[in-house]
Amino acid sequence: MRPREIARSIALFAARTPTLPPATHTNSYALGAREVLLVEPATPFADEQRAWIEWARSLEAEGRRLVAVVATHHHPDHVGGADALLRALGVPLWAHAETAARIATPVARRLEDGDTLVLDGPVPDAWQVLHTPGHAPGHVCLWNADERAVVAGDMVASVGTILIDPIDGDMRAYLEQLERLGRLDARVALPAHGEPIDQPTVLFRGYVAHRKKREAKIVAARAALRAGGLASPTAEQILPEAYDDVPASRWPIALLSVKAHLKKLADEGRP
Ligand SMILES: [Zn+2]
Repeated sequence: MRPREIARSIALFAARTPTLPPATHTNSYALGAREVLLVEPATPFADEQRAWIEWARSLEAEGRRLVAVVATHHHPDHVGGADALLRALGVPLWAHAETAARIATPVARRLEDGDTLVLDGPVPDAWQVLHTPGHAPGHVCLWNADERAVVAGDMVASVGTILIDPIDGDMRAYLEQLERLGRLDARVALPAHGEPIDQPTVLFRGYVAHRKKREAKIVAARAALRAGGLASPTAEQILPEAYDDVPASRWPIALLSVKAHLKKLADEGRP
């Protein structure tokens, strides 16, 4: 049932969104016991927006105050409801400047790395903004050092995979930021897709290890093609070898990963 209480002053509300299968929903989180931040104005569907608004109003009915809605990044399955939800609730949108530059909805406050968002309550909550680019240029996470909880956005997911699209993604930055999340020693990560993740450090490090393994396969496949006389192998040519352990049905998505890794290698002077 929704909404669900995750911890003292953290609640989860999953709304149906047009997201990357097999995920079907995007999680919103209500942070704070009296003053409240709502994360991810995600759903573009009218029925889900009504349920979301009802949830937000139920928080107000408990005497809590909605301070702002925060978007972790600009992808449509995270901000698809921003206009309708903000209009209905009369609260401002907060996001990173790189997100503000990519969406039509006005952003009232530009969140920066290191900002601390203090929420008044019986016990005040402090959420620190972490700018974690890679999946998207303006991606932010929110870190509560007292609860040791991190709102993770699309840095990790407990259902589906995280796509690094070379168009607006950056594999090198993404891996750096995953390593940074791994150093938080978080107790729980709150992803945008899937269930909350207990002891997420293992997962953060696992994601980095998995990507590095894949990158090693890409480098090896490219070297083999070059040895075979192909001077500059394309991502399409590298793909079948580098993803020989993955069903071909997933190759269209995998191709984007190959491109993101090739871009990273070029950026690192390993063309
Ligand atoms: Zn995304």
